[in-house]
Amino acid sequence: MFEKILIANRGEIALRIHRACREMGIRTVAVHSEADADAMHVRLADESVCIGPPSPAASYLNMPSIIAAAEVTNADGIHPGYGFLSENAKFVDIVTAHGIKFIGPSADHIRLMGDKIAAIDTMKKFGVPCVPGSGGEVHTLEEAGPIAEEIGYPVIIKASSGGGGRGMKVAATAADLSEAFSSARAESQLAFGDNAVYIEKYLTTPRHIEIQVLADGQGNVVHLGERDCSLQRRHQKALEETPSPALTDELREKIGKSVADAVRTMGYEGVGTIEFLYENGEFYFIEMNTRLQVEHPVTEMVTGIDLVREQIKVAAGQKLTLTQKDIKFSGHSIECRITAEDPVTFAASPGPVLDFHAPGGLGVRVDSALYAGYNVPPYYDSLIAKLIVHGANRQECLLRLKRSLEEFVVGGIKTTLPLHQALIENEEFISGDYNIHWLEKFIEEKR
Ligand code: ADP
Repeated sequence: MFEKILIANRGEIALRIHRACREMGIRTVAVHSEADADAMHVRLADESVCIGPPSPAASYLNMPSIIAAAEVTNADGIHPGYGFLSENAKFVDIVTAHGIKFIGPSADHIRLMGDKIAAIDTMKKFGVPCVPGSGGEVHTLEEAGPIAEEIGYPVIIKASSGGGGRGMKVAATAADLSEAFSSARAESQLAFGDNAVYIEKYLTTPRHIEIQVLADGQGNVVHLGERDCSLQRRHQKALEETPSPALTDELREKIGKSVADAVRTMGYEGVGTIEFLYENGEFYFIEMNTRLQVEHPVTEMVTGIDLVREQIKVAAGQKLTLTQKDIKFSGHSIECRITAEDPVTFAASPGPVLDFHAPGGLGVRVDSALYAGYNVPPYYDSLIAKLIVHGANRQECLLRLKRSLEEFVVGGIKTTLPLHQALIENEEFISGDYNIHWLEKFIEEKR
């Protein structure tokens, strides 16, 4: 087992990882930028190292600084969290070359799944259903035209290196193709330094349903059910729940097994998420995330399994002791992502937090690094807290969520708490009848 883990991240996820380490008797090293010297993850860790100026490129993405921090503190493992270097295969190579264990899958698996065209190809081979599409890179507009005609409009042009909802453009008709094609390529070049794109059928009313897997790279794989992440703004998730209001136990078992089999064949190690669009009873693979996800707590709430603990155990070379029949799903869980943004305009709202009170009580979990007196820096992701609740069923979960949102106080900055409060009062949301476009319409109508 690891003796000391360096956590190459910040905010709530750095705390989340620290908590798992503490409970396992593993010492922690926090790294931080100059802007984060007073951050909660730094205060709680056993040791901390400043790795550079505020900008992410100079600090949390600064590989030499992070490796040096691990070496001077004698850390034997690095946990990347999500975002930053979590899906950077080159970083994994460098960490490994320094004799330190990267807590996550191999560089090869990260490379394979980071290239979405290759990922789709791989999943197809394993019999996982995919969105009808070009099935490979589309190089020119001349090539794109006939492919889009064959798939049938609307189509979506997607960056092969894409992530965070960037490099994705919809063409509703043939007249939009030229603009969508060139802007998706340009956006991808700018964001990822790569302009490879592919084309998929644009599904008009799907849900986003993803399956959590846990694997030890030694042939043992379990799936931990689904998360419904259909409530999105600009392709970014805002609220997640499990089980999905749209799935049956039978469907869950079928897609879960198909995914677990694929992950076993790949020889994958660690936690991973296979993302699907789900429409009219059919699943369509869109991508695999080879890391811990922001929304992992809802899965933990219904299974009682600490995913970070399991992730650390398999990274230490331990065999998975859980088998599929040990995975029992109990009740319902919902997560609200609370961001430091204006709830109407979504303008960023960094600054001093004057007041902070987190809700509590049975079935309530708050993952946050906020405290009264903390100053939310303007340089990073706007996520400041995740409110996760659990109930015996969806109805109880919704009532608990409502009272938890009422208790939550974040003073001094604007947050999306009012948006979540309005959302959970909505009849359509309460009925579970929503798809990936629903939230944007809801926000638009509220304006
Ligand atoms: P990223 O890696 O940038 O998050 P994804 O491929 O995971 O990109 O897609 C993010 C979101 O974009 C999906 O959850 C969905 O809302 C939308 N999307 C992606 N592909 C399609 C598609 N073929 N049809 C409709 N919506 C799509």
